[in-house]
Amino acid sequence: YARVCMGVRATVTLYAVDEGRAEAAAARAFARIGELDDAMSDYRAGSEVMRLCGRAGEAVGVSEDLFKVLTEAARVSEASGGAFDVTMGPAVALWRRARRTGGLPEAREIDGARPLVDWRLVELSKEERTVRLRREGMRLDLGGIAKGYAAERAVEVLRGEGLSRCMVALAGDMYVGDPPPGKEGWLIAIETERSGRRMGAVMLKNAAVSTSGDTEQFVEVGGVRSSHIIDPRTLLGVTTRRCAAVVSRHGAWADALATAVSVLGAEKSREMIGRFAGTGAVVEEGAAEAGGRPVRTVIDPGGVVGSWWR
Ligand code: AMP
Ligand code: MG
Repeated sequence: YARVCMGVRATVTLYAVDEGRAEAAAARAFARIGELDDAMSDYRAGSEVMRLCGRAGEAVGVSEDLFKVLTEAARVSEASGGAFDVTMGPAVALWRRARRTGGLPEAREIDGARPLVDWRLVELSKEERTVRLRREGMRLDLGGIAKGYAAERAVEVLRGEGLSRCMVALAGDMYVGDPPPGKEGWLIAIETERSGRRMGAVMLKNAAVSTSGDTEQFVEVGGVRSSHIIDPRTLLGVTTRRCAAVVSRHGAWADALATAVSVLGAEKSREMIGRFAGTGAVVEEGAAEAGGRPVRTVIDPGGVVGSWWR
């Protein structure tokens, strides 16, 4: 089953004996994703997260989902030294304008965004389940974590319907449940845009895999390619050619860590990946069009990728 959710093509794949039941379950899974989109979209002025941004300074009660996503986001921010940062909104807005107009933001615009981009300005109170944004003008962007979280929640719905042999994909963020009948897992091929070349394939069950990098979205200014992933040091798009695939137990972790690896690069990501149990990464770096082959690095402290990477 396919629909457009969270601005991308979303698919639900499942095994069932009864088609009517399958259809109803898929509809519920999509509805759950829709509910998360209503909460977390930065494209809808009325979304929960955008309303939160309008109330800087106050401790605002939020939904369990939003609180969980912000908690996991903070964990990845800390582990990545701020490479992953959901307060990136003001810089993302400048990037989106650059994509429309073809001109990079001016230095004073970057300077204006800088005081608003810092994950430590998001105060979470677990007891009260509230969030306080410490500066006026802050803009949260959950584009690097919400899809992975949503894919896992959708699988949870399907499991609840008794259809646990399933897979949910939101563009590059996927979560799989139990394997198809008679199989050891779901075989997922990962491609890069480099002539659709296959980076590899993973065989997974009850796990998430997310890909991130310059594959789909970029702007080109003066011959330099700038990714939609923002480097917090420059507040401009990452210009290094890089693709990352992260396998993890949790959808939010896979999604956010794949984005973080795209900023940090393979070498600086080792320690970070090691902090997340049941998580591993495969990274490809370097321009293929220069004639060379991209360099591949496998970061797999827990052995979760190694046994599956084909
Ligand atoms: P992904 O495709 O999961 O790598 O997420 C990319 C999206 O996350 C972008 O389109 C932005 O909305 C947002 N984003 C960009 N840079 C960052 C960053 N450094 N940390 C967190 N989110 C980011
Ligand atoms: Mg991501």
